[in-house]
Amino acid sequence: MNFHVMTLFPEMIENGLGESIIGRAAKAGYISYQAVNIRDYTQEKHGKVDDYPYGGGAGMLIQPQPVYDCYEDITKGMKAKPRTIYLTPQGRRFDQKFARELSREEELVFLCGHYEGIDERVLEEIVTDYVSIGDYVLTGGELPVMVMIDAIARLVPGVLNNEFSAETESFHNDLLEYPQYTRPPVWKDKEVPQVLLSGNHNNIVKWRLEQSEERTKERRPDLYAKYQRKQEIIKRLSKKKRFYIHMMELLNRGIGEVLYERNMDIVLYEPDSELYMVSAESKESADYLVEKYLKDAGLVLTTSEEVVQVLIAKKNMRVNEKVWQYVYTLKEPLPVKYKDIRRLTMEHLSYVTEHYDENEAYLRRLIEKGHMFGAFVEDKIVGFVGIHVEGSCGLLFVDSACRGMGLGQSLENYIINYVKSLGFTPYGHVVEGNVASTKLQEKNGLYISEEPLYWVGFE
Ligand code: SAM
Repeated sequence: MNFHVMTLFPEMIENGLGESIIGRAAKAGYISYQAVNIRDYTQEKHGKVDDYPYGGGAGMLIQPQPVYDCYEDITKGMKAKPRTIYLTPQGRRFDQKFARELSREEELVFLCGHYEGIDERVLEEIVTDYVSIGDYVLTGGELPVMVMIDAIARLVPGVLNNEFSAETESFHNDLLEYPQYTRPPVWKDKEVPQVLLSGNHNNIVKWRLEQSEERTKERRPDLYAKYQRKQEIIKRLSKKKRFYIHMMELLNRGIGEVLYERNMDIVLYEPDSELYMVSAESKESADYLVEKYLKDAGLVLTTSEEVVQVLIAKKNMRVNEKVWQYVYTLKEPLPVKYKDIRRLTMEHLSYVTEHYDENEAYLRRLIEKGHMFGAFVEDKIVGFVGIHVEGSCGLLFVDSACRGMGLGQSLENYIINYVKSLGFTPYGHVVEGNVASTKLQEKNGLYISEEPLYWVGFE
């Protein structure tokens, strides 16, 4: 992901972002940023870029010409017009959700104001988003842009070493993060909560969730109300848990948004893979939901045959796969006999693409997210397993030369344990008729959904 900043003070940006995690991520190539001096583009011979506002008033304004030429220069090689953000106290308030949305862009251009601001005409010409970092007025857009780049960049896969820390901290799933402790165990007569020293992972996960809930309720009742609404939907879905586990987990893991919900008419959206999850109670509601929410949908996972029929009839889509959901509901971790299983890195991408029928960009993203694991024999990769963007476990492959050694089962058990260790419920999809996979799931003690689900798309 590339950040381009138009500013009168490029050193401020370079010094501010060059250190620590963001600086390291740029050096490692996960992100790049450039600060371009607007002053370099002025046609004024003394290097002036500002002038008095027409109609009078305090301060000076940046003129349109240097800003526009700077923008043209930055964007000239780009394939599409990038999102261009003007930092202004008059903009949409920046928050974690907005950061997540922007982290999916390839190129982002920022425009920092100074003095009293910028001539309106150039803003109309180039700006796509007006963004504020809070209800107060700063002297320039440089600090706000650094705040934004920091918040966005750390969501780009690979930027944080521990890719899951971005998924468990404050604002994830509308909850604030739980309190954290490090050594010493007693400080100023205050003890670290016993549960954290117990080594019992399930209890720790449970305690942390309770603490997060308590804290959010107390400090941010507005967020807590949103969280509670999601919990109510999860409760409704849990009446048929195996059938609706995909929707429950999307909400539980905080990776989906609720677009609509009334009884069992529910539409969720997962922005990363642009996937809609839909359940509809009747033909009428299927019609309504498709018409209102799925107009632009390219990929739908639905529990409802009525929705499938409407998507085929009205949108010319087709069923890519009919699947059954397998859910691991037991408390105990599963045995992993084969020990050499490790998280995959980019050097394994070619092996994965060679052996798994998915597009390369998708597989690359899973590796970047840290969601792919491989089995190794004498340091050589011989199989893999992963977690799909929307949350299901899958992508299992074992080299034909190594089949019959129990590697498949070890990989599958490993991924189930891993998902459980994050406090989530592991589940997967088995395409109807895949007898081998069905047998493996049953052997592992997974439970099958009451009814099948449908992946609907254009492929
Ligand atoms: N006259 C402008 C107004 O009332 O909207 C304020 C100009 S401010 C002094 C100078 C520049 O700082 C702005 O153009 C903007 O780029 C930046 N800025 C100030 N406060 C900001 C905030 N809360 N969020 C984002 N940018 C801000």
